[in-house]
Amino acid sequence: MSHIHQLMAAGAIDILRSTIQDAGGNEVFFLAGTDERGIIQEVTPLARGNDSAVPALMQVAAQSDVIIHNHPSGHLTPSQADVGIASEYGNQGVGFYIINNGVDQVYVVVKAFQKEKLVPLKIPQILEMISPEGAIASKLGGYESRPEQLRMTEAVGTAFNRSQLALIEAGTGTGKSLSYLLSAIFWSVQNKQRVVVSTNTINLQEQLINKDLPFLRSVLSPQFKAILIKGRNNYVCLSKIDSLEKEGEHLIESEDRAELKALIQWAHKTSDGSRSDLSILPAPAVWEKVACESDNCGRIKCPFYSRCFFYRARREASSADVLVVNHHLLFSDLALRGDTGRYSDVAILPGYSRIILDEAHNVEDVATDYFGAQISKFGLLRLLGRFYSIREKERIREKGLIPFLLARLRFLEKQIDVKLYTRIFEHVQTKLIPQRENLAFVLTSVFDDLAAYFEGLSKDETAEVKVRDSCSGSATSPRAA
Ligand code: SF4
Repeated sequence: MSHIHQLMAAGAIDILRSTIQDAGGNEVFFLAGTDERGIIQEVTPLARGNDSAVPALMQVAAQSDVIIHNHPSGHLTPSQADVGIASEYGNQGVGFYIINNGVDQVYVVVKAFQKEKLVPLKIPQILEMISPEGAIASKLGGYESRPEQLRMTEAVGTAFNRSQLALIEAGTGTGKSLSYLLSAIFWSVQNKQRVVVSTNTINLQEQLINKDLPFLRSVLSPQFKAILIKGRNNYVCLSKIDSLEKEGEHLIESEDRAELKALIQWAHKTSDGSRSDLSILPAPAVWEKVACESDNCGRIKCPFYSRCFFYRARREASSADVLVVNHHLLFSDLALRGDTGRYSDVAILPGYSRIILDEAHNVEDVATDYFGAQISKFGLLRLLGRFYSIREKERIREKGLIPFLLARLRFLEKQIDVKLYTRIFEHVQTKLIPQRENLAFVLTSVFDDLAAYFEGLSKDETAEVKVRDSCSGSATSPRAA
């Protein structure tokens, strides 16, 4: 048990106490902000305690914040639920404290991590580097100063320093990549925080990794490590190669034999094991036979784990300052982090603090693939049909889960109380089945109305119409309906 005044300012204690009193001594959840010494200065009541309030709190707390709640019983020992929530918060650097109603006792389940002191980018120095007299200009033949590049560099650097979003549109030939790479490199090296650069095309990834980054490495004094991370499917799986070598003749169709033989020979010689290291492009179906797959991977139990090209590349990535990835890899990583709530650990990518999205016009489609959901009229009606449907043409007219359960109930009729049997039977016949019919009718009307609305919006029937829902930010189109 810690001394309350060592953890909280007097003003914060007063707010906690009066809010708990106003709530009649019931459980209240608070969000608290700490100063640079870790002492709570500000407190905001968030929710009056019930279990469903807790998940909502997960969204609002950030590193160095503290979630506080009172135990009205006065027993401050954390429950199992408290420990579970505290460990989730702890992973994000958020503290979790329990207090009594009088706010004179506190139990620190997890201490908050203090925000790291970040070293801001020196924007004038970066601008100087890309000025006509700067270090970069002197190494680049035919360099011309571009005002747009200078403006973009300043905007990117400011966004890094202020932890802000920056949305920048710059024309081809502006020197965008050099502009954002400078901020990414200096930020990652001086703050020891990894930066991800995500692009849509392999061409741009290769330009960054083979041209721009090596050039900057030759010019800049801070040494940095930049790595191109590819998806798992781009690497050859040594375990599959081993199986093919041992049992190959039986597993391989004769038309694939020559290509697979060449791939097996290459797998023994390649240094990085990635498809881009091949001089010829194998047929997709043949490459699949040797490619890494998540489902069939033995991971640390695999006898080839220590030599595995895919895991070797991931280990390399964990010591890199700048990661170059494609949007699919980034968004599958973000989706995994969203599911687990672990933003600082290794997911598909090692942890990172800043993201630069180049070719960002493709982001919407990729993000929709990972975070969107599709519903259709027929899908929903099919789902309702699984509960209950009538097949006019068949002898057994009623189908689905409800008729099946009613048949089971009839079978048990003599074993259960007759009143209970009748009540259940009537409820199903008079309430459940009509409600299912009503729901099907409402769904059909809603989807038909939506389709009519979208048709009215778009004269060209083949065009896609997007409507953004301002609450959820989701988009839909007539095809989804
Ligand atoms: S660790 Fe997985 S991907 Fe790597 S060789 Fe083994 S099975 Fe293949």
